[in-house]
Amino acid sequence: MSYDNQNIFAKILREELPCEKVYETKHSIAFKDINPQAKIHVLIIPKGPYTSWDDFSMEASVEEQADFVAAIGKTAPRLGVNKTGYRLLTNHGRDSHQEVPHLHVHILAGQALGPMLEGGDLPPNTNYLR
Ligand code: 5GP
Repeated sequence: MSYDNQNIFAKILREELPCEKVYETKHSIAFKDINPQAKIHVLIIPKGPYTSWDDFSMEASVEEQADFVAAIGKTAPRLGVNKTGYRLLTNHGRDSHQEVPHLHVHILAGQALGPMLEGGDLPPNTNYLR
């Protein structure tokens, strides 16, 4: 998947669209989700042009990767949720319903979040390593 620089988060990064920023580092920013799925719902994105995590892990510098992982970990205490708990979630591609093709990690918190997946009653496939 090639990077589409007209995606919503690219526009937010270029400040063509507003966002409610909660944290920023050299290579990453965190901002509130426009359509929250929990009482607290924040997105963390790298500033570089990466569509999803596999692209990021192959193309981003070690400095960008370290910055992003640390930014995720430092956003939670800023939101005051590290004691009560939170869920990190990343969607990649069609099956996950990834909506915005710029890597982002969701932090969901502020309430009991329920089971990890809805409709997860299919038998597990344990033979999926390639
Ligand atoms: P995905 O389904 O790709 O994992 O999640 C994309 C997320 O981006 C959704 O939760 C959606 O609400 C959020 N989103 C879409 N457009 C905007 C926007 O313009 N501003 C903000 N802050 N979030 C957005």
